[in-house]
Amino acid sequence: MIIQVPENIVPLDNILPEEPLLMMGAGPVPLPARVAAANSIVINHLGETMAQVVKQIKSMSAYVFQTESQHILGVAGPGSAAMEMAVVNLVKPGARVLSICNGFFSSRLAEMSERIGAEVTYLEVEEPHFADVEMVLDYLDRVKPDVLTIVQGETSNTVFNRTLPNICALARQRDCMVIVDAVCTLSTMPLEMDNWGVDAVITGGQKGLASIPGVSLIAFSEKAWQFIESRNDQLHHWCLDAKLADQFWYKNSYHYTAPVSGLLALHEALRLICIETLETRFERHLRHSLSLQAGVVALGLELYVKDDARLNSVVGICVPGNIEGPKILQHMSTRYRVEISGSFGPNIVRIGQMGEQCRSHHLFRTLHALGSTIKTLGVNVDVPAGVAQLEETLESFD
Ligand SMILES: *Cc1c(COP(=O)(O)O)cnc(C)c1O
Repeated sequence: MIIQVPENIVPLDNILPEEPLLMMGAGPVPLPARVAAANSIVINHLGETMAQVVKQIKSMSAYVFQTESQHILGVAGPGSAAMEMAVVNLVKPGARVLSICNGFFSSRLAEMSERIGAEVTYLEVEEPHFADVEMVLDYLDRVKPDVLTIVQGETSNTVFNRTLPNICALARQRDCMVIVDAVCTLSTMPLEMDNWGVDAVITGGQKGLASIPGVSLIAFSEKAWQFIESRNDQLHHWCLDAKLADQFWYKNSYHYTAPVSGLLALHEALRLICIETLETRFERHLRHSLSLQAGVVALGLELYVKDDARLNSVVGICVPGNIEGPKILQHMSTRYRVEISGSFGPNIVRIGQMGEQCRSHHLFRTLHALGSTIKTLGVNVDVPAGVAQLEETLESFD
């Protein structure tokens, strides 16, 4: 049999909306123009130009991760591939892993550890709360884990583990390595890899960093790297083998063909962060997120997470009345061309404030679209009050 050319093939333009939708969900986020432009370029994956790009990506990443580590690697793959790279390199089959599970993504780290044959203890944190230090301490002393996995921000239910620095300190005192998932938080709020003693930080491209999906970053501490170098068992994962990736990232040599366009995009995303500086970027995220939250409450809606555990990069909003969450998303998308996210469990919708999402004009448009949509769907919210509160809170930061 010969397979024929499929019928009904249409150009991309016929599929995409005429006007791009405003991406205000939990990622991917809108690309800054320079990032998008860089993403359209292809260069040789080896050679002098690439070497310069790689060198800069590493030094700018070191700033963003707040580390002096000489073991920062890019990953051709989603944030999940970076998570898996952390796990497969730092967790030996049979090792004891303590996984702090706040929800969907943090549980993924546990699942990955299980798949490579680790002895995993799940510390399930009651939703929607942050991990309790005393409880973690108790588990650390009972389980005596070799590795602890934790998420800084659990994007799925918008919980922020504000106790992360304390937990890292406790683990470090017990000689337990710590893997931190910072996919939605890196560069939106403080994360001090060296000061907190984190052994592996991972992030994706399409969230906090405001780059493209599919090209991610991982930083290993010196201690983690010594562990990796000392391993003499062979990893089952070839692409994710940190020692092989080191060939490309530190030895100007070949591992696999690097995702060149994505790395150029990442370069620009990192450069924009360096120009803005972390302090200013953190402040921008905090200010816009708190303002959006105040606006949502003034609409008459309820935020899913109490303020002490609430993430500032993605905010969860309880779906009011008898409305179905997906209807809100659909109406916002078709009527207002604003995309937000649904949920992986709780009855919430989620609005992101990562990178370019955190611009006042985007938040006004999104809050208006949300309020008007909910009104249309039959729940009476006060749209002018919400928008006025957003404005007032934004102004109050000046
Ligand atoms: C999105 C996300 C991931 C997974 O990233 P992918 O690029 O979808 O694989 C992991 N952890 C957190 C906290 C996330 O927000």
